[in-house]
Amino acid sequence: MSQAKIQAQSHAKSLGGKVALVTGSTSGIGLGIARALAGEGAAIMMNGFGPADAIGKLRQDLASEFGVKVAYNGADISKPAEITAMVAATEKELGSLDILVNNAGIQYVAELVDFPPERWDAIIAINLSGAFHAMRAALPGMKKRGWGRVINIASAHGLVASPEKAAYVSAKHGLVGLTKVAAIETANDGITVNAICPGWVLTPLAEKQVAEKAKEKGVPEADEMVAFVSEQQPMHQFSTPQEIGALTVFLCSDAAKTITGAPLSIDGGWVAH
Ligand code: NAD
Repeated sequence: MSQAKIQAQSHAKSLGGKVALVTGSTSGIGLGIARALAGEGAAIMMNGFGPADAIGKLRQDLASEFGVKVAYNGADISKPAEITAMVAATEKELGSLDILVNNAGIQYVAELVDFPPERWDAIIAINLSGAFHAMRAALPGMKKRGWGRVINIASAHGLVASPEKAAYVSAKHGLVGLTKVAAIETANDGITVNAICPGWVLTPLAEKQVAEKAKEKGVPEADEMVAFVSEQQPMHQFSTPQEIGALTVFLCSDAAKTITGAPLSIDGGWVAH
């Protein structure tokens, strides 16, 4: 498809002409969000790990399915200088950075007294500090342009705790707090900053935990699926990456322009009980 045709097609949609950077968009929720934003016409800067040929294919599929520009930057979100460079590369390669989705995240499960300090450091660096460095680099451009949307993918664990998740719960609570500060500071700049707090979403990150629990209990993984979700959620259903993508698109819309500093639960009732 010609560049002119791509541009004409994407501009007709609700996010046509906007540029979105989605960290950790090579898998799971991040990929769901990138697809939803591309579906509304936004150009996408992808980020995340994976084999080069698989990432190349994801990038190509996204561009051809939705008729938008898709670039990729392999910044390691535990490294502040790489994040800053990725923000600059997005503005240079795609012309702007209007929507920032801080999604990259990792998990590690162990009791606090057994928690390896290097796992603590990695989770705080990727799940919390990464969002700080990305916002620090991206907000000045959004302020200059008078429009911006930041969506931080926190978790139900940003609002309540579970055992064996000291680092994750600390990082996600921190991310909700960071979201509120950034929202207040940008409240009159045409920018909104919100946190999405999902319950269980069926992605490789959650599947790994289901597999570990099933092994621990000696039951088939399929049986463990329902038990796993029902342990925390009154609604015995996983959310999907597409649903998190749809909520992200809503937060980018004009209808959501006064929603800021909010932790938005999408968790089958997890934090309601
Ligand atoms: P996932 O493992 O499927 O995807 C994680 C993504 O982050 C991948 O693209 C991976 O390459 C990337 N990533 C990991 N470390 C990185 C690093 N150092 N630098 C750059 N990219 C890196 O996980 P997911 O379930 O899609 O999780 C995405 C986010 O959603 C995380 O922040 C997670 O905490 C949050 N979340 C997930 C669930 C769930 O049930 N899956 C629930 C609540 C919140």
